[in-house]
Amino acid sequence: MDYDIVVVGLGPAGATLARLLKSEFKVLALDKKLTCGTDGFNKPFGGLLATDSQRSFIRFNLNLPLDILTNPQIFSVKTFDIQTGLVRNYQRTYINFDRHKFDLWLKSLIPNHVDVRHNTLCKNIERIIDGYQVTFVQDGQEHVITTKYVVGADGANSMVRRMRYPNHTVRQYIAIQQWFAEQHPVPFYSCIFDNTVTNCYAWSISKDDHFIFGGAFPKKDANQKFEQLKHKLEQNGFIFGTPLKTEKCPVVYPNRWRDFHVGNEQIFLIGEAAGFISASSLEGISYAFDSAEILSKIFNDKLKNPNKAYYQRTLKLRFKLLSKIVKAKILTTPFWRKMIMKSKISHIDNIQQ
Ligand SMILES: Cc1cc2nc3c(=O)[nH]c(=O)nc-3n(C[C@H](O)[C@H](O)[C@H](O)COP(=O)(O)OP(=O)(O)OC[C@H]3O[C@@H](n4cnc5c(N)ncnc54)[C@H](O)[C@@H]3O)c2cc1C
Repeated sequence: MDYDIVVVGLGPAGATLARLLKSEFKVLALDKKLTCGTDGFNKPFGGLLATDSQRSFIRFNLNLPLDILTNPQIFSVKTFDIQTGLVRNYQRTYINFDRHKFDLWLKSLIPNHVDVRHNTLCKNIERIIDGYQVTFVQDGQEHVITTKYVVGADGANSMVRRMRYPNHTVRQYIAIQQWFAEQHPVPFYSCIFDNTVTNCYAWSISKDDHFIFGGAFPKKDANQKFEQLKHKLEQNGFIFGTPLKTEKCPVVYPNRWRDFHVGNEQIFLIGEAAGFISASSLEGISYAFDSAEILSKIFNDKLKNPNKAYYQRTLKLRFKLLSKIVKAKILTTPFWRKMIMKSKISHIDNIQQ
């Protein structure tokens, strides 16, 4: 074998795994993002670091560099239920940051003993005796190598997952985001529910003089529903103006236990490729970190049956994600949402509107 492990994708999951693997392994890490600029990277992203991800930073003994943070830091999420007109403020301790810089920073922490290929697209993976043959294109040139293990860390649209589980489809929404010049007198985060346009939800974030509005919509009529919701929000005090850019991407929306796929036969899936994303908040960085950490320990300890060990050690994480599916089902059901918001539990009033 040319390599012990090939990691496909260097988002938070793949970059963390590549960083944590012991130097005794021969590791190849492929990522289609470029090392600088924003070309090759157009993932729409909220850009909020939740407390679970902050906990991973403690375990990793890492601090977040200041230049990754964005302005301002906001301490609550204004939650809108468009159907009932209810609005509530819930305290949140998210960190507002620049996703692109964050990903590049995580990649920069990968040690030199890992063979990292930027701007490289993994095209094909085929089973061979004792491992896999991986085909990738770097700078327009095709390469073929062999490896014992393949790790799919290639996100929502994972080609590794599709190759391993060709007959399984996970529910996906289309995330659409638009960026505007920030014009609101007080920047805010928001979370918007409106079952007439989506049975997921929409959000807005203020970031470095920009106002970002996005939402996850069923594939059919996604653009139309996005515009419809914008129109309704204008009547609720949102100020949009001319869009500066529009971004789109699929987002995995796990809906049942079997939407989580951890891999088999020397293939492993981590992060969003495994379906590890919270259905209730679309928070995925902490699960990307956790699954990468679990897998790194399994490889580093050279466990005899790594696929079985990974399946077992991610059980807790999958149960946690299952509880998020239940939470999402409650929050996206108009009756329960109305009850929760009406109760004013955890709501903090603005004294100055
Ligand atoms: C609109 C939106 C908003 C979100 N907001 C938040 C938030 O605020 N906070 C939060 O915690 N989570 C958020 N998430 C979820 C979060 O973005 C993901 O869960 C997280 O990025 C998953 O990390 P990952 O490493 O598994 O995958 P990704 O971050 O998707 O990384 C996959 C990597 O693989 C590379 N890749 C893909 N295919 C190939 C290939 N064939 N060859 C080579 N490289 C490949 C890509 O370039 C990418 O670098 C949001 C998601 C969406 C869609």
